[in-house]
Amino acid sequence: MAFFDAAAMMKGLRGTYASGRTRSYEWRVSQLKALLKLASFHEKEIVDALRSDLSKPELESFLQEIALLKESCGLALKELHRWMAPEKVKTMMTTFPSSAEIVPEPLGVVLVISAWNYPFLLSLDPVIGAIAAGNAVVLKPSEIAPATSSVLAKLLGQYMDCSAVKVVEGAIPETTALLEQKWDKIFYTGNGKVGRIVSAAAAKHLTPLVLELGGKSPVIVDSNVDLKVAARRIIAGKWGCNNGQACVSPDYAITTKEFAPDLIDTLRSELEKFYGKDPLKSNDLSRIVNSNHFNRLSKLLDDDKISGKIIHGGQKDIANLKIAPTILLDVPGDSLIMEEEIFGPLLPILTVNNVEDSFNIIKSKDKPLAAYLFTNNKKLKENFISNISAGGLVVNDTTMHLAVPTLPFGGVGESGMGAYHGKFSFDAFSHKKAVLLRSFAGDLSSRYPPYTPKKLNLLKALVNGSLLGILRALLGWHD
Ligand code: NAD
Repeated sequence: MAFFDAAAMMKGLRGTYASGRTRSYEWRVSQLKALLKLASFHEKEIVDALRSDLSKPELESFLQEIALLKESCGLALKELHRWMAPEKVKTMMTTFPSSAEIVPEPLGVVLVISAWNYPFLLSLDPVIGAIAAGNAVVLKPSEIAPATSSVLAKLLGQYMDCSAVKVVEGAIPETTALLEQKWDKIFYTGNGKVGRIVSAAAAKHLTPLVLELGGKSPVIVDSNVDLKVAARRIIAGKWGCNNGQACVSPDYAITTKEFAPDLIDTLRSELEKFYGKDPLKSNDLSRIVNSNHFNRLSKLLDDDKISGKIIHGGQKDIANLKIAPTILLDVPGDSLIMEEEIFGPLLPILTVNNVEDSFNIIKSKDKPLAAYLFTNNKKLKENFISNISAGGLVVNDTTMHLAVPTLPFGGVGESGMGAYHGKFSFDAFSHKKAVLLRSFAGDLSSRYPPYTPKKLNLLKALVNGSLLGILRALLGWHD
């Protein structure tokens, strides 16, 4: 197949956008409804593709990809009128009489580059924001999830307005060709190394960016918790999310030396209840996406610095790219597993003397995408919220903040910039245009030359909001 012509594609999209078609409320609604239909009518095809790419269990595919996408689409359809409406804002004395409003307008032609781990949701959720905001959009799904990429290309081609919504499948050469174009926004989900490549390409055109990156998201476990509930929620966020291949999965845990044995025992027994005695045979755990990532995770486990630290799991099935839920205890800070994002089914547990000491460990690292705390201690919870900087925080659960569309989802520092979900997705793809409306009445001569002390006094009084000052200036009174 001939390599696609990115410049020609961009020209076509610019033409569509310039026609004004994508700006109308009706067009946006029709495209959102088409996405909703696509997700509803082709559920099996999507689930099959996710199984082929990741052996993703059907329940996870449905709940964490399809249902979230449908909810997101439903919310946009319900709220679009409100989101598109100009927002009236107050004006100041200096512009009296006047009124002002913030008018959201589409940015133009935007690019969405998505990752392999939630290849359906992470591709289409930003597209919802782009369409709702009235943009033309190109989606570049990840080549590492080829079955989902091909289903997306096929279904978007069938359901969407193809002159405004396009899918470009492919890997680095295709992404590089896309990045050479001048976009009005780039929305990238993936790792920070490629995030830097995307940022450099965007900088050439001063293109604004959203970077949805990852990091080492910690979970702190205090000793006063309902341990069974805490363990189940940690397992759900780690192994129950794509077998740890999720940007918001807990990367490592921290608890006190005293409490660690109880936490480990409970994690072990709940893991066995969920995935059986031989988790490599469980159908409820995703496989590792490909051999590169399998080898990367194996290297983390083979690091000499963590020899003897595996206290649970560690089994691997290279033929089926499976790695069992694995727990490690007190790995050194300079081991590979503590230096990079794990993005897989390995959970190191670090121990500290006092639970508050965990804050220093977290603060010594880059700001994570998420941080979790299990506690019943009000003071600790408040300290956590005020002291820990992360994309998002959850107390007494893991990962669930991303299912709350009234919360912005995004990183800070190394975990990313910008945010989306719900109205934040609409905002991510909109320009907030400032509009000031004046009439011809009240044309204050003081702003025009020749400048005189009287005019200056009047302006000062106006700026200071002093009614008496205004009167004095107008009547020419002096102290
Ligand atoms: P990936 O390998 O699928 O890459 C992401 C995208 O970048 C793909 O579309 C790929 O084609 C493109 N790409 C890869 N190399 C490129 C290059 N040299 N030039 C241009 N484009 C290139 O996904 P990944 O990076 O392995 O994803 C995992 C990472 O993403 C983790 O760090 C994870 O935490 C993060 N992530 C973040 C979120 C979030 O919402 N914040 C969600 C999922 C994953």
